[in-house]
Amino acid sequence: MRLGQDELNYRPETLAVRAGQQRSQFGEHSEALYLTSSFVFKNAAHAARRFSGEEEGNVYARFSNPTVTMFEDRLAALEGAENCVATASGMSAIMATVLAHLKHGDHIVASNGLFGATVQLFSNILSRTGITTTFVPQTDPAAWEAAIRPETKMFFLETPSNPLTEIADIRALTAVAHAKGILVAVDNCFCTPILQRPLELGADLVVHSATKFLDGQGRVLGGAVCGSKQLTEEVFKYLRTAGPTLSAFNAWVLLKGLETLKLRVEAQSASAAQVAAWLENHPKVARVFYPGLPSHPQYELAKTQQKSGGAIVAFTVKGARNEAWQVVDNCQLLSITANLGDTKTTITHPASTTHGRISPEARAAAGIGEGLLRIAVGLEAFEDIVTDLDRGLVKIVG
Ligand SMILES: *Cc1c(COP(=O)(O)O)cnc(C)c1O
Repeated sequence: MRLGQDELNYRPETLAVRAGQQRSQFGEHSEALYLTSSFVFKNAAHAARRFSGEEEGNVYARFSNPTVTMFEDRLAALEGAENCVATASGMSAIMATVLAHLKHGDHIVASNGLFGATVQLFSNILSRTGITTTFVPQTDPAAWEAAIRPETKMFFLETPSNPLTEIADIRALTAVAHAKGILVAVDNCFCTPILQRPLELGADLVVHSATKFLDGQGRVLGGAVCGSKQLTEEVFKYLRTAGPTLSAFNAWVLLKGLETLKLRVEAQSASAAQVAAWLENHPKVARVFYPGLPSHPQYELAKTQQKSGGAIVAFTVKGARNEAWQVVDNCQLLSITANLGDTKTTITHPASTTHGRISPEARAAAGIGEGLLRIAVGLEAFEDIVTDLDRGLVKIVG
């Protein structure tokens, strides 16, 4: 059951705990987990009506499941979207978005700062189906416009970018795309709808890795695509046939994750702003990349489209790989892992992990230096996070 017009005026914290809930005949207060792969019908005619789509309702869990529907409706309400379809992972959300709307011969313009697996998907897998991609700088709308071809069907972007937190101007890129009838898809993983609502800025589709902030506690994989009924219906048609749908169990975990999304994202983002300011004043830190700092080249633009700087901070130490690894290796509290969006703060050395398979030249061109570190700030006390970072930082000579 979708929310009525009045309920859509509820604020995000209300939507996060209330939107999308459907109670069964038992009147459970907390959303139920429907672990069932299929659904039964009253009689043959009922089955026929459900299968033909003449009557709405559940048929088989690859098509829909009540727990998954509750998650979809709650996330749609938070993104301000007409509809949402859930997927097994963030990557399957991206795959489904592209394959639902593009075909052999079509072309994507994408930012060169995308999540690593998205770059691999576009460059090595979708390219085999005849869908090609041109990668352009995140921050330069003119480069996006110049990359458009007659067969361009989609702009795909992710803002802020990982790990350098470069901002793509969603309004400007949408204007360029829509003038040519091109769809705009935004990966909103870093900000979540709590900090940024791309559909309100003009984008057509929002994709999520629900694995990150939406779960927020590092438990399950999941993904989602939000947008108009018409555009997400195409994604749904792909999913119900191709199969990468969200499991009911994961949907239930994510539904509970959404309830605390606003509290977590706001607290983590406030703490990240403090960590970024602390790093900027540290004598062993060369540069900090954080959209909430006035020193960020796109600080003003970021303020027009996201509510705060978010929970991801990148910085370069004075030195190279040895110095960066020293900071990682001296951490006692921070988790050494590439995941992000968790309640537990994580630290990553992108050049040797997430961006390790890219050639050193391409890494250098993308600005991913050997001294760069990325932290995804969690819910620990700010003081404890910076004490942990300082253990390795103070040992840097020079
Ligand atoms: C993690 C991530 C993905 C992929 O999501 P999975 O759930 O791991 O498949 C896509 N985009 C961004 C920005 C991510 O951080």
